[in-house]
Amino acid sequence: MEKTHYRSCNLCEAMCGLQIEVKNETIHGFKGDPLDLFSRGHICPKGPELKSLYEDPDRLKFPLKKTANGWEKLSWVDALSEIAEKLVNIQTKYGNDSVGIYNGNPTVHNYGSMLYGQRFVSRIKTKNNFSATSVDQLPHQLLSYLMFGHQLLIPIPDIDRTQYFLILGGNPFASNGSLMSVPDVKKRLKAIQDRGGKYVVVDPRKTETAEHANEHIFIKPGTDVFFLLAILHVLFSEKLIKDNPLIEESDIQSIQTLVKDFDLEKVSKITGISKETIHQIALDFSKSSSAVCYGRVGVSTQEFGALCQWLINTINILTGNLDKEGGAMFTLPAVDLVGEGSVMRSSPGSFNTYQSRVRKLPEFNDELPVSALAEEILTEGEGQIRALVTSAGNPVLSTPNGSKLEKALSSLDLMISFDFYINETTKYAHYILPPTSTLEHDHYDLIFNVFAVRNTTRYNQPLFSPVDGMLHDWEIFFDLTKRMELVRSKKEMPKELIKTKLTPASIIDHALKSGPYGTKQNPEIQMSLDLLKNSPHGFDLGPLKKSFPERLYTENKMIQLYPKLLEKDIPRLKSKFREHLDANQSLFPFLLIGRRHLRNNNSWMHNLPKLMTGKPRCTMMIHPEDANNLGIQNDEEVLVTSKVGELKIPVEITEELMKGVVSIPHGFGHNRSGTKQKVASQFSGVSINDLTDDQTLDEFSGNAAFSGIQVKINKIKV
Ligand code: SF4
Repeated sequence: MEKTHYRSCNLCEAMCGLQIEVKNETIHGFKGDPLDLFSRGHICPKGPELKSLYEDPDRLKFPLKKTANGWEKLSWVDALSEIAEKLVNIQTKYGNDSVGIYNGNPTVHNYGSMLYGQRFVSRIKTKNNFSATSVDQLPHQLLSYLMFGHQLLIPIPDIDRTQYFLILGGNPFASNGSLMSVPDVKKRLKAIQDRGGKYVVVDPRKTETAEHANEHIFIKPGTDVFFLLAILHVLFSEKLIKDNPLIEESDIQSIQTLVKDFDLEKVSKITGISKETIHQIALDFSKSSSAVCYGRVGVSTQEFGALCQWLINTINILTGNLDKEGGAMFTLPAVDLVGEGSVMRSSPGSFNTYQSRVRKLPEFNDELPVSALAEEILTEGEGQIRALVTSAGNPVLSTPNGSKLEKALSSLDLMISFDFYINETTKYAHYILPPTSTLEHDHYDLIFNVFAVRNTTRYNQPLFSPVDGMLHDWEIFFDLTKRMELVRSKKEMPKELIKTKLTPASIIDHALKSGPYGTKQNPEIQMSLDLLKNSPHGFDLGPLKKSFPERLYTENKMIQLYPKLLEKDIPRLKSKFREHLDANQSLFPFLLIGRRHLRNNNSWMHNLPKLMTGKPRCTMMIHPEDANNLGIQNDEEVLVTSKVGELKIPVEITEELMKGVVSIPHGFGHNRSGTKQKVASQFSGVSINDLTDDQTLDEFSGNAAFSGIQVKINKIKV
């Protein structure tokens, strides 16, 4: 039987519509859905590889338990019963914090896992809750919480209407947008140029996005905070600040006083950007009919990641570009996670209400920074983590100082992993619980509709039934949560799986019906799951609209332009500024940055053969003059050393890199033994996180700072 299946891809944030041709339960065709109202037919090479994932012979399909004889297959009921009993026993003996949690990035691409995973975490009641947030977008969420009153009120570039787009530390050509879901980004950026606008990229590497920009400006890694302060310095000195009734005059004055010290001469010396260029960018930005400043992972993973996001928001606000068409706007998704009174309203956020046990790092939104995970396992004492549950994550490759984390994982009394691969992290687990893959479950994008450049929504039913009696993530979480409750109350566990009728789809249906486009609030649309089931190409809800003051959730209904808490980070900022100005020759003279390729995203994608074709990607990029000074040739292997580790990697000489900067992609390092990902191990590469340091942080937010790591490069003697 032949059929055409439509769904949105959940492999990255762009949510592209897919058109899949199926005959006799086998996929025969895969392309971008030309009728998709959001992605308009666009897909990248990753989308069609959902098929390879579904068919991957390395994908686990039943629970595994580690024994003296190796991995052994277990029934679901036996696995979940044993795990429930062991987790409860550990918490009973050592306290709630003795169980740690780590949620990887794919969790937010899976609404079932999000809904029931969060319930599981809340029942575990541990402070030792970690996720990929603190190696990524934590500063964005923190600043939205502090300035606008809700962590998910993230300003989104209104790319389809802006006339001036300033991008720092982001490469949307490779990512298709991040905290800016934007399929088809190439065409949308080109459209800015076609309508007489421009986009400018500030980055230590001339990325694929920078290649096509009106202007690309090299910046020394880790100095974006000073560049942003200098932009504000110009805006104040040239009297280009715009009025806004939602901000306090005293906050404006405090910022004016702060930025006075960051004059262009000094900032130019630190950043490597000429003072004329800084001045011109500030003028162009403020004089454009609409403009938006956007900074992404290269900026949020710096030592001043939080201050960078604050300054980016501040530039947008003080030039009159926040909550304005063509500026930085906010979404109004069909499932509203922000609005007061919404049935799905998520926590507005919290900050520093408790700290990590060993290093006293601040909590954000009931999570601790993942840079503290290894030490919380390795350091003895009350509250030490003895058992860890990981879900859809590979922190050995994706968090700083992966080697230290490996040592920690190998010391755990118990480790449970929700994952369908035996990878560099899950190989340390005592139990692996593999959930279904994307094409076997339904999909509603709970999170990325919140960050999209247009209000849209869609729901997709599964393409295939789960193979071999597999369970969805949410079913596993639900059963395990219930079983733990039974163990705690000393009741017998059932011999069959524990089910619920409250499916993720039924939860979403209720949220859609009672949300901003549901019957009561929008009788014309009457949004519901049934409506979306009959809208295979998605449902367009229009461009971003003005949201403030109605959706501003600070206590006094004003934008907190200069949140009080940030003041305590200013002495550190000023001290770093002086340090940069007095910089002497370093033992580690190069600054290391990461990079992302269109065919990469999460590390597990390295096991999908078609994504690994082409020339080797795990190389260390370096500028020709630096290579010449070191006497190294293209493809030659060099030794890279940081404070915490060293690795050998082939060199790729390119003028893409700023002098003094080297770049290694993230997610590689599949050369460790004990994994079971055949393709990935053929393209093993090395892990950049064997060089990054778990002790180097944005001290204010706790976010990892692995952009601009100091390293030295040595030729390998033969
Ligand atoms: S850009 Fe992202 S959402 Fe679109 S096909 Fe590629 S991986 Fe999927």
